[in-house]
Formats: sequence, structure tokens, C-alpha cells
Amino acid sequence: MKISSAEFVMSNSDVAKCPKDKLPEYAFIGRSNVGKSSLINMLTNRKSLAKTSGRPGKTQLINHFVINKNWFLVDLPGYGYARVSKSAKKVFQKFITAYFVKRTQLVAAFVLVDCRHDPQKIDLEFMQWLGENQIPFSIVFTKADKLSKNKLPVQIEAYTTKMLEYWEEMPNYFITSSSSGLGKEEVLNYINDINHQLKTS
Ligand code: GDP
Repeated sequence: MKISSAEFVMSNSDVAKCPKDKLPEYAFIGRSNVGKSSLINMLTNRKSLAKTSGRPGKTQLINHFVINKNWFLVDLPGYGYARVSKSAKKVFQKFITAYFVKRTQLVAAFVLVDCRHDPQKIDLEFMQWLGENQIPFSIVFTKADKLSKNKLPVQIEAYTTKMLEYWEEMPNYFITSSSSGLGKEEVLNYINDINHQLKTS
């Protein structure tokens, strides 16, 4: 898919106030610092569409972008960082779960995980929750350039083994690097294919 336009639409913390347009929507979520902003910028060919931030927890909002005037890319708050107080964490978790449960336009989620890290409890629990709520998702392994050619498949294999303790099969996944552009075509083609299917169904 060629990206001809990518525009910021709005930010808010209330699913009821999200755009009314019935465009298909794809949500990106993951632990803070996982590389979500960099991935969104890489996918959309923009330097700073999504704000990369040194300070975790800065962007605790649901951010809508319209791509090619045809679909929404949604940048959700990073979860699982320590600097936010417990009560603040609770509030945003509530609106994130409300978003996933209530947003009927949502077609699929992308759960980002840093390929260098072993499976983290919070990610596994979040994917479990998506599964229980029948929300389709793919895993996006980020920062693949940070692992050697030999180490990368070993990490993915270990992650798969862990997932298979909970899942009958490994969910769809992508291996990406915002530095090298690895995985860009795959993610965009995946979205493009679904958009086409939705149009023709
Ligand atoms: P976010 O908090 O999930 O939005 O993460 P950011 O996109 O702000 O990235 C967090 C840090 O990881 C930044 O220092 C980025 O430069 C770095 N980073 C993100 N993606 C990649 C990648 O694919 N490769 C490398 N080497 N660094 C990355």
C-alpha cells in the first residue's frame, strides 16, 4: 500500500468522542518505549506524525490519524510504565478497555513487543484479554535491527513457545525495524488486504 496522505484527526480519552466516520480502524498498542511512535512514523513515511517521547506516559490519549482518507490508524497509550500513579493507570486502563470493547469500527489491533525482551506478563495478559473479548490482533516485534541475524529467530521461537502455553496457535506476527524499514510492506499489505475484503464483502 502506498501512503498518499496521513493526517492527525483528534486525541481524546473517551471512546464516545472518537471520530464518527465508519472507516476501518487499526489500533497500535504496547508497553511504553516499545517503539510504537517510531513504527507509526515509519509506516506512514512521516518524521513526527506520532510523537516519539523520551518520557514514558506522556501521551495517554487515544490518537486518531486518517490514512489515505480511507482508514484510521489509532495510536493508543503505552501501558505498563512505572511513573504513572496507580490511580492514573487505572483511569487510562479503563478507557483503553472501553475503546476496545465499544469501538465497532475497530478491525484489528497490533500489539507491539520489543523483540529483545522475553515475554512480559503485562503483554501476555493483555493479549489474553483481547482473545477473551474476541478482538483480532497481530503481534509486532519491534527493533529487529538490535538483534543479530542468529539471535532474532531464537527470540521469536522462544516467544512462540511461550505463547503456545496459552494459545492453540501462534497469532499472526510481523518482525519490524523502524530503523531499517523491515516489515513495513508486510504490515501495510496486511491492512490493505483487509480493507479490500471489507469493501467487497
Ligand atoms: P514509544 O514510547 O513506544 O512510542 O517508543 P518510541 O518510538 O519513542 O521509541 C523508543 C526508543 O526506541 C527511541 O529511542 C527510539 O529511537 C528507539 N527505537 C524505536 N524503534 C526502533 C527501531 O526499530 N530500532 C532501533 N534501533 N531503535 C528504535
